[in-house]
Amino acid sequence: MSWSADSGHSTQAATLTCPRCGSGNARTLRVIHESGTISSSGTAHGWTQGSGSSAGHSTSYSTSSTSQSTAAKAATPPKKRHNGAVLLGFGFTIAVAAIIYYIVMTTNQISDPSYVAMSALIAAAAGFVMLVIGLVLAPADSRYNSDVFPEAFREWDRTWSCQQCGTRFLA
Ligand SMILES: [Zn+2]
Repeated sequence: MSWSADSGHSTQAATLTCPRCGSGNARTLRVIHESGTISSSGTAHGWTQGSGSSAGHSTSYSTSSTSQSTAAKAATPPKKRHNGAVLLGFGFTIAVAAIIYYIVMTTNQISDPSYVAMSALIAAAAGFVMLVIGLVLAPADSRYNSDVFPEAFREWDRTWSCQQCGTRFLA
């Protein structure tokens, strides 16, 4: 094995020799991911030349979407799970909205009270179901985040991928 950098896998320019094909093109998944992912918060600024009242047209544009190469996608790090929290948030929002809807509609007598009650009940029930599922998933999420995720992330951080033959190995 030959190292082109001595400070380990976090070095941007570091490459390793592939154990399978022997090419010196292996890079860490982190480097592959970061080099192939264009940040979603990137903004490009430019000014057109001009004079008088027409001076200073801003040509800044922001890239609102994240663009990734196929390689960068394949090197995506493991993510923490927040399925339970997301469902709890949705469920809570829907349930509260249903209650507010019911109160507003009945106090103002905007439409048929039985229709209002029925639709509010259906929405509240849907929100309640999401709350229950969220409550069930939340502990599983936190177990995954505390028990599985750190190890998975460490492994991802130590994984190299050969740019020549695609072999992955830990280093
Ligand atoms: Zn290889």
